[in-house]
Amino acid sequence: VSQELQSRLLGRIRDVPDHPKPGVTFKDITPLLADPAAFGALTDTLAELCLRHGATKVVGLEARGFILAAPAAVRAGLGFVPVRKAGKLPGATLGQAYDLEYGSAEIEIHAEDLDPGDRVMVIDDVLATGGTAEASLSLIRRAGAGVAGVAVLMELSFLDGRQRLERSLSGAPLEVL
Ligand code: AMP
Repeated sequence: VSQELQSRLLGRIRDVPDHPKPGVTFKDITPLLADPAAFGALTDTLAELCLRHGATKVVGLEARGFILAAPAAVRAGLGFVPVRKAGKLPGATLGQAYDLEYGSAEIEIHAEDLDPGDRVMVIDDVLATGGTAEASLSLIRRAGAGVAGVAVLMELSFLDGRQRLERSLSGAPLEVL
């Protein structure tokens, strides 16, 4: 991405101190979403990344990943597949649990939404510890598909998510705008 576009997009992300709990700075993308030129430019960029890395499907991670991944998938002419928190998807699912700072979480995918031979681009807003993205990559592989890459708007580099993801990416790119 050009430096100009990057600063335009990142300038539309609001830091909200102590949300959702003390000590956490929440990266709020709603100002970006409310700006049609910025959201459109982001959509074009994500679509272009999907195609450049040979993706055949686009996975969005609940919830903000849906908002970014769905228009990018349409723009790229690719199918969109949601990865949701456990218990939300009505069909036959694959599930993957992963550790959080306190406790654990589980995400699911409809197994039939991916075909063997698919190459999947995973999109989310923020890479923090990398736990969610890592779990999504293992769902994709267990569904028999390949990984085209992971694309996020921002990474919180002090949390070392990139390091955590490295092994499960196994050579696929991590794109940060
Ligand atoms: P993680 O699994 O730790 O990488 O967390 C990633 C998920 O939590 C993403 O879906 C993000 O949307 C969300 N998230 C984590 N930390 C933040 C933050 N500081 N601001 C906004 N979203 C966050």
